[in-house]
Amino acid sequence: MQHPTIIRTLFSHLRCSKYGDFYAKDKVQTYSNADKPLWACYELEEYPIMDLIDSSYEGMWRYRKLLPVEWDENIVSLGEGGTPMISLEDKLFLKDEASNPTGSFKARGLAMAISKAKELGITKCVIPTAGNAGGAMSAYCTKAGMEAYVYMPKETPKTFAKECKFFGAKVKLIDGNIGDCAAQIKADGLEDCFDVSTLKEPYRLEGKKTMGYEIAEQLNWEIPEVIVYPTGGGTGLIGIWKAFEEMMQLGWVAGEMPRMVAVQSEACYPIVEAFEAGASQARKFQNPAISLANGLRVPSAFGDELILNILYQGNGKAVKVPEADIESSIHQFAQKYGILLSPEGAAVYKAYQKLLADHWITKDMRVVLLNTGTIYKYMENFV
Ligand SMILES: *Cc1c(COP(=O)(O)O)cnc(C)c1O
Repeated sequence: MQHPTIIRTLFSHLRCSKYGDFYAKDKVQTYSNADKPLWACYELEEYPIMDLIDSSYEGMWRYRKLLPVEWDENIVSLGEGGTPMISLEDKLFLKDEASNPTGSFKARGLAMAISKAKELGITKCVIPTAGNAGGAMSAYCTKAGMEAYVYMPKETPKTFAKECKFFGAKVKLIDGNIGDCAAQIKADGLEDCFDVSTLKEPYRLEGKKTMGYEIAEQLNWEIPEVIVYPTGGGTGLIGIWKAFEEMMQLGWVAGEMPRMVAVQSEACYPIVEAFEAGASQARKFQNPAISLANGLRVPSAFGDELILNILYQGNGKAVKVPEADIESSIHQFAQKYGILLSPEGAAVYKAYQKLLADHWITKDMRVVLLNTGTIYKYMENFV
């Protein structure tokens, strides 16, 4: 087939991630009629890498042709993506997302969701958040000229809410976890607000997908054996996997898919519980405790089936780490490598050490650890 000379995007349509039925890309979409996340589909066939990567765009937008935004004027960007892959040891790497706008990888997902929302004419957005997603959404809404409403657990370190307020967002602090925030949004009946909850609209996933493209490109298009990821709602894990699937179809990478490791804290571990039981769905985690890693405190993930499928299909694993080990892991990593991890990233490092001790990971494997955010918003938690 002949390729058109100028491709804006190969994005073609959406489908239900479970049942495959079709959803049009030119209207506002949320999730499927079967209550499952939607999956963005592209016209993928073998392409030379440089035909689809456009270095005239900054950061994650260099993969623009594999992203869902149709027109450049709708791209709402604050410089997200293009983060470093830091070599820690011979075959051990840290994909460090701390330098993103508002200090976390949530910027990738929200830049994409808000860009698409703008393209589809949306003017008000609401989000339940454990912290970082709220800050990111507030920033991109401001840049796009939209109103932002943020619902956040009241125990979240103060910096997270303050940041949203600086951007002009309306913030409501909720007595409970992120699930309770979502319930309160429903109860408040914000009908004219578009809900950008994790996987309840299709495009945050597409933003997080760019981490997978960057990981492959930074490793010279060789697939790492293992990717260790701190899992809350799971968008990053699903997105990285989706990117590797797409790159296989594009002929950019070959061989075994990466083994994905989902890391959670003992404070809240619905995915680990389901994985260990061999279940295809996760049960809602009852009474989640407060965690230093507030990004991982998600008692019920809307994408549970997708996450678990990826873990089973790719010979991955789900690991929980003791809450008490998170702070010491930050300390240890900082002293060893000169890098401050977020509590979520520190949970990943702890899980890596555990898997190394169990010989599930060996030193001859190429392993990528994800540090998903900056520690600086959490500092009030430490004495
Ligand atoms: C949100 C968040 C996570 C979890 O990401 P999901 O895509 O929801 O699994 C991990 N780390 C940090 C710092 C976060 O903000």
